[in-house]
Amino acid sequence: MSRTPALFIAHGNPMFAIVDSEYTRAWREVGKSLSPTAIVCISAHWLTRGVRIMANEVPRIIYDFGGFPDELYQVQYPAKGSPALARKLNALLPGSTLDESWGLDHGSWAVLKRMFPDADVPVIQLSLDVNLNAKAHYELAKALKPLRDEGVLILGSGNIVHNLRMADFTNRTPVYNWANEFDSVAKDAILQHDHEKLISYELLGQAAHLSVPTPDHYWPLLYTLAVQDSEDAVTFPTEGMDLSSISMRSVRLG
Ligand code: ZN
Repeated sequence: MSRTPALFIAHGNPMFAIVDSEYTRAWREVGKSLSPTAIVCISAHWLTRGVRIMANEVPRIIYDFGGFPDELYQVQYPAKGSPALARKLNALLPGSTLDESWGLDHGSWAVLKRMFPDADVPVIQLSLDVNLNAKAHYELAKALKPLRDEGVLILGSGNIVHNLRMADFTNRTPVYNWANEFDSVAKDAILQHDHEKLISYELLGQAAHLSVPTPDHYWPLLYTLAVQDSEDAVTFPTEGMDLSSISMRSVRLG
């Protein structure tokens, strides 16, 4: 079996689950180009103390947002879980805990519904331990790399630039300069395989501080980069800026 590509998908706002856009069409194309045996999703929206691994046989759908149209709360994504894969991850990640309290949050299902609309690939989620720093997240994620050789898709889901407080939901405000600046810095570092720079993003000045005011949407990128192989081609299936302060840059490795 050839090595399965790894992905970071910029999920943006939940409406992309039901409103078509250039981004959702690109997600679909990416999905069509892949045939994974299972998916491990690292979503910005599952933050825990300690590392937790979704072990449900049949994951529930979590509508972890408020104030959106009813249609969004009707979305279903009936993918199966994979307790066997969860146990494998549990063994790869010392100190991690199997979890049946979670399910699929919108960081997962809003993207997967577009990528794999038939919901015929088993999905598990790996949580983000809020007690870890960026370096620790990256180091932990390296343990996932061998799974790529078993057909497993490692899918980080977040946004490289994610400042909701500054977001303009009417999309009338021009994209902030700091957002473009940090997105561009990150793009170059990804292309240069400069993972140290991306791990140490807090040293990158004001643009980084404004772009990553909280680390939750940034950390999933580090999981994707941690499983990179030197032979992987690096491409950006989507790029652009939404709501003036949300980067829609996705990354494909391999
Ligand atoms: Zn999000």
